[in-house]
Amino acid sequence: CGIIGIVGNDMVADRLVDGLKRMEYRGYDSSGICVVHDGQLVRRRAEGKLANLVDVLKAQPADGSIGIAHTRWATHGAPTANNAHPHATGEVALVHNGIIENFKSLRDELTAAGRTLDSETDTEVVAHLVSREIENGASPEDTMKTVLPRLRGAFALAIAFRQHPDMLIGARLGSPLVIGYGEGEMYLGSDALALAPLTQRISYLEEGDWVVVTKDGARIYDADNNAVERDVVTSGASA
Ligand code: GLU
Repeated sequence: CGIIGIVGNDMVADRLVDGLKRMEYRGYDSSGICVVHDGQLVRRRAEGKLANLVDVLKAQPADGSIGIAHTRWATHGAPTANNAHPHATGEVALVHNGIIENFKSLRDELTAAGRTLDSETDTEVVAHLVSREIENGASPEDTMKTVLPRLRGAFALAIAFRQHPDMLIGARLGSPLVIGYGEGEMYLGSDALALAPLTQRISYLEEGDWVVVTKDGARIYDADNNAVERDVVTSGASA
């Protein structure tokens, strides 16, 4: 339901949670964050209100200067902590808005190949499809070229990679995703409002676009994997 990602210069967990708070108006049933730190994906999730996630983070902090976060509005799978996003393998963590319509056939393919999925969501298949490519040695960019065309339905995605602690990847088809340009930092968000305290400089991804976001900026590709430019506009959203 709500997505935020930060490629930051200092600890991001508090700012990720603040971004989620700004999207509470959209409604949600659970939430979670994942940061990349010291070569590990550090994930925290909670059922119910964001206050529950804040409690989890107080007990088990998630230090790291790059991360993704999500508020979930369940479509497939009960609103439990285990079904909350991010969904992760050892290599990748991912948050998703929307519905993967062909998740059943993808899940059958993945389980037939010996992979164990441990949630009831449509989303988790995407984490495994991405992870499988990465485990086989593909770059994050080549992975997107392989995986995105296999997905049917609607999605906004933000993905973090254990072995690439300098980048996030975003993608959109049928669900909005924006890029935020900061001062030596970069952001992803499902709406400009979530990013308003961080930056007013926004690019809207177009249908089928995907983007590699690092501290240096954004490299945007269209559905045919051609490098494209998208206008940077000043968001009217107030901080
Ligand atoms: N379909 C996904 C799920 O049920 C994402 C729902 C959302 O947009 O929050 O987990």
